[in-house]
Amino acid sequence: MARIYGLETEYGLAHTADPDGRRIGPEEIARYLFRPVVEWGRSSNVFLPNGSRLYLDVGSHPEYATAECDDLGDLLSQDRAGEGLMIDLLDKAQTALEVDGIGGRVHMVKNNTDAAGNSYGSHENFLIRRTLDFNRLTTVLLPFLVSRQLLVGAGAVIPRRSAFTPDEEADRSEMMFGLSARSDVMWEGLSSATTRSRPIINARDEPHADAEKYRRLHVIVGDSSMSTATSALKIGSAVLMLDLIEQGARIPENGLRHPVRDIRLVARDLTGRVVLERTDGTTTTPLGLLGDYRDRAQRIVESGEHSLGDDDLAHYVIDLWTRMLTAVESQDFSTVDTEIDWVMKRTLIERSLQRGITDIADPRIHRLDIAFHDITPATGLFPKLEAAGMAKSLVPAEAAERSKDVPPASTRAAIRGEFVRAAHAARRDYTVDWVHLRLNDESGRAVALKDPFATTHPQAETLIAGL
Ligand code: ATP
Ligand code: MG
Ligand code: MG
Repeated sequence: MARIYGLETEYGLAHTADPDGRRIGPEEIARYLFRPVVEWGRSSNVFLPNGSRLYLDVGSHPEYATAECDDLGDLLSQDRAGEGLMIDLLDKAQTALEVDGIGGRVHMVKNNTDAAGNSYGSHENFLIRRTLDFNRLTTVLLPFLVSRQLLVGAGAVIPRRSAFTPDEEADRSEMMFGLSARSDVMWEGLSSATTRSRPIINARDEPHADAEKYRRLHVIVGDSSMSTATSALKIGSAVLMLDLIEQGARIPENGLRHPVRDIRLVARDLTGRVVLERTDGTTTTPLGLLGDYRDRAQRIVESGEHSLGDDDLAHYVIDLWTRMLTAVESQDFSTVDTEIDWVMKRTLIERSLQRGITDIADPRIHRLDIAFHDITPATGLFPKLEAAGMAKSLVPAEAAERSKDVPPASTRAAIRGEFVRAAHAARRDYTVDWVHLRLNDESGRAVALKDPFATTHPQAETLIAGL
């Protein structure tokens, strides 16, 4: 069984000024950051030789969308390569700021909330077959997505009492450590709007592939992950759920009666025992749901009929999933404390609370939280944990470095990467999107790579050979 998946990550930008210097805002930082990108590709929206897309959308959150992968290891490596590329751009921006006499220090964070409290995303994309009943799929998947944060949330200081309707205000007088801040900005299970009434699953039907055969599932509820182990469990568990559904597993179809309420309740319960009501009136808990899914996913991994592309990683996903459930049940997290984002963040916060900070809403805790997500090598906490061996990494530095230039070999990204590299080297004017390759200075039509699994394409090869 095979599946395509890709991960979009938006980053946050900040600048700390020198004592006597000017402080610049995110938009100006973004302009500095994208200067080399614009020089390279004459646009702030480019596809790179590794098959990925690097761009600056509205607002000032640089985004990296990985190339299409059909192997979990490739995805982890491509995503890390994106971090590496951002760090390279950050270094150049830092130098340019110094040259321009602005100085200070620029920072980049891989989190999901900016200083003004706006939420931004990490989108997971999964190829599904058009023959699948989309409504059934989302009904079965929603309880999984509502509860998955117990395994892979980034951890966040959130109001103890959330707002349950969009016109309510959360009560920020009492704060607590919860699993995810992203849960509080989800207002629907499924919809095609991504901004105001943000849904857990985006229903926009834009397959980036042969629309008769495929559909792209666009999940927007997840937190960005610092740990590659957390990423592996986040994406790996979702892929296995889709495998189960596509293979016709009889997962109970009665969804949750109040998904928008439940996602907030789950975020506030570190024990996984909060009671969730199903549409048929029965009840369950996050631990109950995730334990049931884990058992089914384990069977699919043992049968080899999964689409993670790598049996060892598939077994690792099941193993970490199992250890995490046991940890939550026993509240002894020592077996997962180098692998799961929220567990690692909580340990850091608890240590500060023991060292005399009494209030979890203290600005120093807030700064610690931001530092956890800072990917800047000089100031980031997570990179330090990894370097010290206190956070497990599934992606060797050399693999991430290589993926900055080399696309996944087993999807159409390989063709796109080759085209971009060759067209750029030949100084040709070209346009690329997820499906198309085109030379603008030729009257020929765009080549359409409609099959994301295909690594060869005669027309594309002719186009590349002619460069
Ligand atoms: P937006 O940024 O507005 O959400 P978008 O969802 O089209 O737009 P992009 O930022 O362009 O997103 O990223 C698309 C992601 O989908 C990439 O990570 C890419 O690898 C992945 N992808 C491309 N084609 C497919 C496909 N056929 N099935 C699943 N994933 C795909
Ligand atoms: Mg995007
Ligand atoms: Mg998207």
